[in-house]
Amino acid sequence: MFESRIADLGSPARTTGPNGTLRENPVSDIFGTRVFGLAAMKEYLTDRAYKAVVEAIRFSQNISFEVSENVAKGMKKWAMDNGATHFTHWFQPLTGLSAEKHDAFYKPSFNLELQGIESLSGQQLIQQEPDASSFPSGGLRSTDEARGYTVWDPSSFAFIQEITTGRVLCIPSVFISYTGESLDYKAPLLKSIGAINQAVGKTLELLGDPGRSVVPTLGWEQEYFVIDQSLARKRPDILLSGRALFGRMSAKGQEKNEFYFGSIPERVQQFMNDFEKRSLEMGIPLSSRHNEVAPHQYECAPMFEEVNSAIDHNVLLMNVMRDTARQHGLEVLFHEKPFRGVNGSGKHSNWSLATARDGENLLDPGKEPHKNLRFLTVFINVICAVNKHAHLLRAGIASSGNDHRLGQHEAPPAIISVFTGQQLGKVLDHFKTKGLKGTPDLPTPELEKDIPRIPTFLLDNTDRNRTSPFPFTGNKFEFRAVGASHNPSFVLTVLQTCVAEQFTQFNAKVEALIEKKTKPEEAVVKVLQEELKANERIIFNGDGYSHEWEEEAARRGLPNIKGTPNAAEQLLDPAAIEMFVRHKIFTPDEVKARVTIILENYIADMACENKLVEELAYSHILPAATDHQLKLVELYEGYAEMGLDKPAKRVKEEAERVAKLAERIYSQLEKLAKVREKADKLTEVADIARVYYDQSLPTTLEIREAADELELVVDDQLWRLPKYRELLLVRS
Ligand code: ADP
Ligand code: MG
Repeated sequence: MFESRIADLGSPARTTGPNGTLRENPVSDIFGTRVFGLAAMKEYLTDRAYKAVVEAIRFSQNISFEVSENVAKGMKKWAMDNGATHFTHWFQPLTGLSAEKHDAFYKPSFNLELQGIESLSGQQLIQQEPDASSFPSGGLRSTDEARGYTVWDPSSFAFIQEITTGRVLCIPSVFISYTGESLDYKAPLLKSIGAINQAVGKTLELLGDPGRSVVPTLGWEQEYFVIDQSLARKRPDILLSGRALFGRMSAKGQEKNEFYFGSIPERVQQFMNDFEKRSLEMGIPLSSRHNEVAPHQYECAPMFEEVNSAIDHNVLLMNVMRDTARQHGLEVLFHEKPFRGVNGSGKHSNWSLATARDGENLLDPGKEPHKNLRFLTVFINVICAVNKHAHLLRAGIASSGNDHRLGQHEAPPAIISVFTGQQLGKVLDHFKTKGLKGTPDLPTPELEKDIPRIPTFLLDNTDRNRTSPFPFTGNKFEFRAVGASHNPSFVLTVLQTCVAEQFTQFNAKVEALIEKKTKPEEAVVKVLQEELKANERIIFNGDGYSHEWEEEAARRGLPNIKGTPNAAEQLLDPAAIEMFVRHKIFTPDEVKARVTIILENYIADMACENKLVEELAYSHILPAATDHQLKLVELYEGYAEMGLDKPAKRVKEEAERVAKLAERIYSQLEKLAKVREKADKLTEVADIARVYYDQSLPTTLEIREAADELELVVDDQLWRLPKYRELLLVRS
């Protein structure tokens, strides 16, 4: 948590001016007005309680019961001063959505002559007990074992959410079972942050900088599509599965890249203004927005934050966006690949490590990266972690949606690799043999001064590489392979565990050398050189979309894991389980539960798509084909009667084409139903997932191809599903 950044979050409520709109008010007037941040805490808590919360945020101490009573009192008063009537523990069960159960502050009195009172006790603040049996647990809990607890996370600020029925105080919480297993995304994430703090803090100590706390930072970029709600309602596939299971690319697509950074249609702009205002009030530091490459695809991004708050804010934002879109007659799609043939949506996760107190970025190369040992240490160790655990990172981003996206249209491939850029590539090459001595032969950053009237500007030290799943972009890594709909918590927990593991091993090697009387700096350089040499196969600065890269990656022995069923099982690697256990992130059962949940979600998506394809084919596509054929038959008979042989022949051919396509669909539909029957008979999730992957997926695709061809030839008036053209190209 960077205190400098958040100092004025949650200042006492201010009005937003006469119209309450964003345009008339500077953002600083509304930012964080609904957050119980440090400024609000200072006003509403005793000095002692305030300090205890700050200490808890800094990892140092857990909050005592007594202090929590005081925090509860202050938080309740603040919330009620700001119009809240209810409170809830706000948590992230493994559904991937956020969950909340509202309780009123108001407690009626049993004594009829007395008024009830509004209260929130320390106990209620810290702990609640929702029914755990209705949330997915991946087999950790059976339905009769319902006890689960949500427990307050003081490191993410409470906030007030406004919903149609009023204002609710939301208290970010972890969710654990009666037996202590984590049933959510947040608890393991917090543990991985702790592991990073320990391991990297120790590394800094070896570099002569003891007593530092280290936190990961995250700045996500959320991509999404927006479509008209009334059209979406005519597309059950989009409404229920989040993606168009049918639909032919329209004559005009994204070929000319004319949408990228283009102007934003008025209705979408109003939607953006609205959700941004609500988000800013709740302390989500949104700072940029633009049109993406595909039609009606957009992106928004905040200022980066400490990873725990950043993820809470991402989950909250997705909720706010969904709700706000509906109020504007729009539907927002977070699916990774809603439209085949058009770019997909990612959630690029910009990730770095920083010192906790002052937010010094440990991945900032500075002016002379080749001499910056702290930078080199962190940079090289992260690269090594990615190489050693590429298969686990792949598992962390596995989902049915991302399967459609990875490796397609401007999305990184399923092969995990790291892009360093040319300059830093040279720095590493130099360091590998010469250590900190001498200077690599670097092209000096160029000053561009040849454009008339434009001020001289500096070109960046790394170019961008859109094709890399894990590029270094100047002073942070950009994990581009994360899917737009994902809760990034899981994959970042995996990443952070792998990074903590790498630093732990690194520290041990360095310490062993120091024990043998090597000077600390020399020891660090030596181990880094060895590690770099052993792991540099992961560095790839070329075109990740090319076929040659797939071959080259295979030669280098890099995993190229296709499809969720194959990716998910990587987590069951015994070495991986041991690692998660060693860093106290997951127990073996918790790892297995995550794999089960990835597979269960995959099966749910695939079964839903399978049924939707069947339903839409029978009720929309084939009837349209039949209607069209009827027209053709009538026409044919007419021509034949008139003795017009030539046109009659053409119409007959046309009818034959439609009939053939329909036949193709009928025969594949039989196959589709059989696949489902087969899957229904199996009991192991891994087997079921595989049947869907191997058999349902290609069959639905074949049906789609025939259906999309029908869309081309069938009379537009008879076609029942709104087309891509209507969904994507109408701008109003
Ligand atoms: P771009 O040029 O791609 O817009 P920016 O540097 O503006 O890149 O950053 C894109 C995202 O990366 C933003 O969300 C930003 O907050 C985030 N970001 C920048 N620095 C860091 C960092 N040190 N750690 C994590 N995220 C960061
Ligand atoms: Mg980016």
